[in-house]
Amino acid sequence: MKIDDIVKKALSQPRALTVEELSTLISLSDDKAIRDVRAAAYELKCRHCGKMVSMRGLIEIGNVCAKDCLYCGIRKSNASLTRYRLTADDIERMARVSALQNYGSLVLQGGEIEGEAYTAFIEECLRRIAPLNLGVTLSLGEQTEKVYRRWKAAGAARYLLRIETSNPALYAKLHPADHSWERRVECLRALRRCGYQVGTGVMSALPWQTTEDLARDIVFFGDIDADMIGMGPYIPHPDTPLGRVAPPMDNAERLRLGLNMIAATRLYLHDVNIAATTALQTLAHDGREQGVLAGANVMMPNVTDVQYRRSYQLYEGKPCLDENALLCRSCLERRLALIGESVNYGQRGDSPHFHKRTSV
Ligand code: SAM
Ligand code: SF4
Repeated sequence: MKIDDIVKKALSQPRALTVEELSTLISLSDDKAIRDVRAAAYELKCRHCGKMVSMRGLIEIGNVCAKDCLYCGIRKSNASLTRYRLTADDIERMARVSALQNYGSLVLQGGEIEGEAYTAFIEECLRRIAPLNLGVTLSLGEQTEKVYRRWKAAGAARYLLRIETSNPALYAKLHPADHSWERRVECLRALRRCGYQVGTGVMSALPWQTTEDLARDIVFFGDIDADMIGMGPYIPHPDTPLGRVAPPMDNAERLRLGLNMIAATRLYLHDVNIAATTALQTLAHDGREQGVLAGANVMMPNVTDVQYRRSYQLYEGKPCLDENALLCRSCLERRLALIGESVNYGQRGDSPHFHKRTSV
């Protein structure tokens, strides 16, 4: 099928494309075809989310993690970093900074820790920031349904848990044997039962990953009926086992693939929130803006105190290590204005898909 026909079919209704058609979009390298596909994805983004980008202040609440994902710089076995955990006072203060920037939403992200003490700690943080009236997303890994329910009751509205890859065999190559792909899927279902806006996503440009894997990832997002997608290129970290495996592509190819994934996901799902992630900015100074022009509508400026940022490096080359929240905001505003977009200040920027599926 010709690219024009694939795009026309994609625009006609959500979830119209086959794995083969998605693969064609994901593997595009011809400049003109890429431009056309991104323009169609951007048009859909504007139709469902407007010509604006919703912000979530990102607080990296701690780098202590019980997991050992083979690609991640803060994995349990990496002894070369200083571990930290923010206090409830720190988190409340940073949430206020985010509210002052007039970002309508907040993300609390960190390593995975299970247990009553941690569950209660997060509850306390959520209760303290509730009066700020922000849309709060948690990204704290796999937990029991009971814990997800408690955090929802304490004020969290959204939860982001990437499946990382929808291919269980590839997942097994990227994680130690005691990490379970099936448990991750079960957690996504549990989050849905608890009433969250559910986000998932994958890394692209992973060793051993095929274009078909990525196409099936996008179909997985549809099957799980995700409300939000957070995905980005895998970037090696030298102090990890996967970081020592030769990367399958260079930075330019990684960026192109990451942007093709955003465009194909927008064309397949239409009305979900899609983040232009920091990993894109690592590959090009305007990587996130390129993400918006390929169909993304969310950004997550970091509002964590700069002193902690070096200790939360998932991959090499994390940007904005020394840029505080205020600088970050003016820089973003300027960059978005250059592409004719504005910041959706003061709004939560909920997923249009979530509202549609829950208002029936
Ligand atoms: N611990 C939680 C979890 O894993 O769901 C949330 C925090 S974790 C650091 C957030 C995401 O970072 C992961 O889902 C993974 O996709 C991404 N990540 C980790 N290492 C990465 C790398 N080397 N390159 C790109 N993304 C990476
Ligand atoms: Fe921990 Fe998340 Fe990193 Fe895995 S990706 S090691 S769960 S912080």
